[in-house]
Amino acid sequence: MTAAARVLGLDRASDHLAVRWLGIDIGGTTTDVVAIASDGEVLSSAQVATRPGAGLVPGTLEAIAALDVELDALVGVGIGVPGQVDHEMGTVRLAVNLGLGAAPVRLGSAVQEALGARVVLENDVRAAALGAHRVLAPDTDVLVFVGLGTGVAAGVVIDGRPHRGAHGLAGEIGHVVVDPDGELCGCGAQGCLETVISGSAVRRRWGVEVEAAGHALAVAAAAGDTRAQGILDDVVGHLDLMVQWLAHAYGADVIVLGGGLGRLGDPLLTPLRHRLRERAGRSDVAARVVGPERVWCAPAEIPLGAVGAAAVADAPIRPIEGAAIRLARRPEGRDGLPASIKT
Ligand SMILES: [Zn+2]
Repeated sequence: MTAAARVLGLDRASDHLAVRWLGIDIGGTTTDVVAIASDGEVLSSAQVATRPGAGLVPGTLEAIAALDVELDALVGVGIGVPGQVDHEMGTVRLAVNLGLGAAPVRLGSAVQEALGARVVLENDVRAAALGAHRVLAPDTDVLVFVGLGTGVAAGVVIDGRPHRGAHGLAGEIGHVVVDPDGELCGCGAQGCLETVISGSAVRRRWGVEVEAAGHALAVAAAAGDTRAQGILDDVVGHLDLMVQWLAHAYGADVIVLGGGLGRLGDPLLTPLRHRLRERAGRSDVAARVVGPERVWCAPAEIPLGAVGAAAVADAPIRPIEGAAIRLARRPEGRDGLPASIKT
């Protein structure tokens, strides 16, 4: 019996309890890892601090060790990692937050050699999008996940598969210019989306150095801080526009907002849905394509990135009871407008 099974007090067939897949989500600050059973159940999870640069591979192995599970029956490992991922070579590069430059790091093959199981790499936001699809909305044809963290990027799942695009960069919306006269972005352009709605943009614009800037901003706004309210309003306004592009461009059933800002929940979702609802009331097109019920915040307690990474390695992840987004289809002949929503 595995350590996770002992912790959970489970008394089922040992086959069920064997760890078959690992899912790993390497973030700029923390690394999440989950162990998955043959039936897709999450057996165990752990979180450790990410080790950047030369520590990336040993840090990833440490994260796996933190699970404290037996890996004899392991068949696949999925790793979601920021930066440019080469799926064929199992390498990653150009991840500023991980201290990776232009030289490719052999993350996939190093972990594969250490564990003796197949390892698949995927861009972290795309892995989180797949996690959101499997856990929250497995019946949706098109799901868009937007990571609102240090930067801004979208992951798109179409017919259950991650959409990478012709250059492997589909969904890199953080550097779409939304304000040509806006602030200078790290990429060299002016007024990119991530200069307005990322966690780091909020921190810079507000001028308050706190860890969870979005949460602190929402608390200050709710307490009547008019400057915080102004910044939050502006963030919501740009999110409103972003949601419209994504819904129209991809024909999305559901758009899930994740990352530090996305997990804020109601302080973000309530005013955003209010805008969408108002527009839907005036426009039949908006009502069909981008109604308020299509936009969700990722549940903070579920490691969607790690679970999605396991799904990248073909783990049969199941929806989590109580977290699923249910979009009831209208009868045939009508548009796919949600008739009722249940959380
Ligand atoms: Zn930019």
